[in-house]
Amino acid sequence: MARLLEGKPVAEKIRQDIVKEIETLGKKPVLASVMVGDNSGAEAYVKSQKKIAEALGVEYQLHKLSSGTTEHALAEFIEKLNKDKSVNGIIIQMPLPQQIDYKLISQHIQPDKDIEGMHPANIGKVVFGKAKLIPCTAAAVMELLNAAEVELKGKEVVVVGHSEIVGKPLALLLLDKLATVTVCHIGTFEAKKLEEHVRKAEILIVAVGKAELIPGDWVKDGAVVIDVGINRVGDRVVGDIEHEGAFRHASIITPVPGGVGPLTVVMLMRNLVEAAKLQK
Ligand code: NAD
Repeated sequence: MARLLEGKPVAEKIRQDIVKEIETLGKKPVLASVMVGDNSGAEAYVKSQKKIAEALGVEYQLHKLSSGTTEHALAEFIEKLNKDKSVNGIIIQMPLPQQIDYKLISQHIQPDKDIEGMHPANIGKVVFGKAKLIPCTAAAVMELLNAAEVELKGKEVVVVGHSEIVGKPLALLLLDKLATVTVCHIGTFEAKKLEEHVRKAEILIVAVGKAELIPGDWVKDGAVVIDVGINRVGDRVVGDIEHEGAFRHASIITPVPGGVGPLTVVMLMRNLVEAAKLQK
């Protein structure tokens, strides 16, 4: 039977640290959030970001641009925010209209204002183990492992999912802690090798976005399990791992919802404070 590793208490502790850091900054940090078009998908995120920001003493500025905004016009708008000394961090809300390529547009954000940690300059620093602005979800997973005092050195860690925002940066952060990291993805699945890798994992982290892709019985006895997935199935939200079965085998497991989720926005705010310090 596993111990449930909930995100809320970990997030709460980091929130307290952020409030203290903001006090020492001597000025409310300013987060500029850019939303293009009427975007019901992003509205919920914006609302929760704003609420957390304000509770921490962060000024949250929402900039709504019309749905017809071109990539060039958005790049110019970002340039304006880059030059604005009162703005400490910039985020672009997803999804974007189809005329805008997120990968291209996110590179216009000045690296020291890139609080999502997605600029190549910041990702590059993750490679060298010197990053200050780390992609939020990957940072959230590392915080959970740290809070649960999970030893990473020499451990067999399997990450399922190799996206730029989660799997890839996470693999680098884990390598930096001298874990033995295997990254699985759609290619592993199609080669029918997912099960053999997952079964080996002493620490299993899954970020795919497919409801209960990993059967609980694949989880090694005593494993630490972090489920990043958020999937809506009818009126339920489930992870990428079949929770009940995994709970029987794991020593520690995150719930969905309530595991990684509560930490992600807090990581964004921590990056904002880091950004403000970098700009000083
Ligand atoms: P993505 O779509 O960018 O990447 C999905 C990854 O899964 C890819 O590497 C792909 O190769 C792999 N994959 C797809 N099907 C697979 C299969 N059958 N077997 C093995 N690998 C497979 O996704 P993402 O943006 O990294 O998000 C992944 C999940 O994490 C989603 O459910 C998302 O909602 C969730 N997420 C949660 C948080 C949070 O705060 N908890 C934050 C970000 C993402």
